[in-house]
Amino acid sequence: MRTPIIAGNWKMFKTAKEAAEFVREVKGKAEIPGVESVICAPFTALPALAEAVKGTGLKVGAQNMHWEESGAFTGEISGPMLKELGVEYVIIGHSERRAYFAETDETVNKKVLAAFKYGLVPIICVGEKLEEREAGRTKEVCKTQTEAALRGLTAEQARRAVIAYEPVWAIGTGKSSSAEDANEVIAYIRKLVGALFDAGTAEAIRIQYGGSVKPGNIREFMSRPDIDGALVGGASLDAASYIQLVEGAR
Ligand code: PGA
Repeated sequence: MRTPIIAGNWKMFKTAKEAAEFVREVKGKAEIPGVESVICAPFTALPALAEAVKGTGLKVGAQNMHWEESGAFTGEISGPMLKELGVEYVIIGHSERRAYFAETDETVNKKVLAAFKYGLVPIICVGEKLEEREAGRTKEVCKTQTEAALRGLTAEQARRAVIAYEPVWAIGTGKSSSAEDANEVIAYIRKLVGALFDAGTAEAIRIQYGGSVKPGNIREFMSRPDIDGALVGGASLDAASYIQLVEGAR
């Protein structure tokens, strides 16, 4: 049985003070037995967030990391720096990073490998752009991205990884994929994982849907057999909405 996972991707929103305030509001409510709840905040909010979630069931994630342990990489943050703060998850290869910050399948793979090396669990984002979907290339794009991201992992690592299937056209647009379409692509990604590793790994790996998930549609996504949770941007910023998302994943 896979434990559903709701991850809030705050993107470039919320100061440290606002993050702590958010935890005060959701504490005890966005913690539902049998659902993992992870807040992925900007780097500057992570220390305050990690402190605020102590003693709660909430977990903390980052939104990016460099693959090296340390070095002359101005402006970058490494895995050990995150780990020391109590960060457990890290989003890797979000489409905004691929589009605006030159993230490639190769850098995504390096970061995924580094995440495991430094004791973090990657939430690996894959998904097609609108023109790719319209050209009937959704599965092909997801295959290329998934295979590249998981290259070099052991089956034991792949089993613990989280994949977020996020069609780019659904992110921040209010136009989510249908649950049926999302489940079909996610089942396909699960099959790919089975081919790359083994049936047990395919069965164990958690694959989320992301792209305009809200309290109003979370249950519909969660009712599908292959969808193990959601990576949520906009709707994760409001405390009441976040609580409903976690409740909806039960
Ligand atoms: P959205 O973002 O929920 O605002 O569409 C999802 C994401 O970017 O992870």
